[in-house]
Amino acid sequence: MAIDYSDEREFEAGTEGLLSASVIPEDDGEGSLRPKTITEYIGQEKAKENLAVFIAGAKKRNESLDHVLLHGPPGLGKTTLAAIIANEMGGTLRKTSGPAIEKPKDLAALLTNLNENDILFIDEIHRMNPAVEEILYPAMEDRQIDIIIGKGPAATSICLELKSFTLVGATTRSGQLSHPLRDRFGIDLKLELYTPQELKKIVERSAEILGAPVDPEGALEIAKRSRGTPRIANRLLRRVRDFAQVYGDGTITRQMADVALTRLEIDKEGLDALDRRLLTSIIKQYRGGPVGLETLAATINEESVTIEDVYEPYLMQQGYLTRTPRGRCVTRLAYEHLGLDNLLPEEHGQTRLPI
Ligand code: ADP
Repeated sequence: MAIDYSDEREFEAGTEGLLSASVIPEDDGEGSLRPKTITEYIGQEKAKENLAVFIAGAKKRNESLDHVLLHGPPGLGKTTLAAIIANEMGGTLRKTSGPAIEKPKDLAALLTNLNENDILFIDEIHRMNPAVEEILYPAMEDRQIDIIIGKGPAATSICLELKSFTLVGATTRSGQLSHPLRDRFGIDLKLELYTPQELKKIVERSAEILGAPVDPEGALEIAKRSRGTPRIANRLLRRVRDFAQVYGDGTITRQMADVALTRLEIDKEGLDALDRRLLTSIIKQYRGGPVGLETLAATINEESVTIEDVYEPYLMQQGYLTRTPRGRCVTRLAYEHLGLDNLLPEEHGQTRLPI
């Protein structure tokens, strides 16, 4: 597809900068906590090992890295990994997001401004406008784009060669990516929720950067209650540090973390008020399910995408919730955790529930 430049308008600004849906204002200092090298990046061993090999291979051949697709829930380190790739490849990271690129020419402007080895990071790539997406195909495959210059009969189409850049696409929903786009990524990495031990290391690293003393049990307590997500672990660390400074001597102990997180309504298993509302609503209003996503979203007054991208991955990983073709169901564990065992459906007995 050729891009029509005939109206000679300036490219619109606004493709710079990136705000993930789950970044909230208090995460502003996130940059300082971001690991800069692959060795500083904790966890995701499988993805990291493979990536290190691909980077080393590309460097050896003196080529740019193949295009990379990163998928996984918000806050797991996709942007961080894109910055690390740029760092390792010696290029500059250019950040944008799918919905921010409104017109094909916006993307063309971004692409033609890239230098050798630069990384173009497109967050939420599944939300890209299809007309814009078409520009990406030749850009990714042949490193070129077609543009139309001039108007009417004098209009000519020229092919612009691009520098050898790497596209890093991030998505919380790889299933929503079109096949032609997905096929053009040579490297496909899935990020998993982190284990408490990995998050403990992240909390300890962040605490050191923030100058907040934390003992190992304190770090583990925060880790266990962070839904497997580094962004949440760092956010909770900041809040627990406030409690430790106001109510204690500043050191984050297990007890201090427990007091603070309980005050923040995050329970021992890391579920917050909305998790509990979601599970309770399925139990009390839908007898444990199945209930459709949209119905559930309306019942608890939350966006269905937020439920799907942010809440469900952890609830399913922890075994509180299952997805079936007919809708969402809670498990026996959810009844027990919420102290609602008395509502376990009798007619189906315990066999209806997977756990
Ligand atoms: P995403 O792009 O997937 O939403 P980010 O890359 O913005 O997530 O990560 C959120 C924050 O979590 C970062 O600021 C970083 O400090 C922290 N973080 C993410 N992954 C890691 C990791 N593997 N090791 C240490 N910190 C991490």
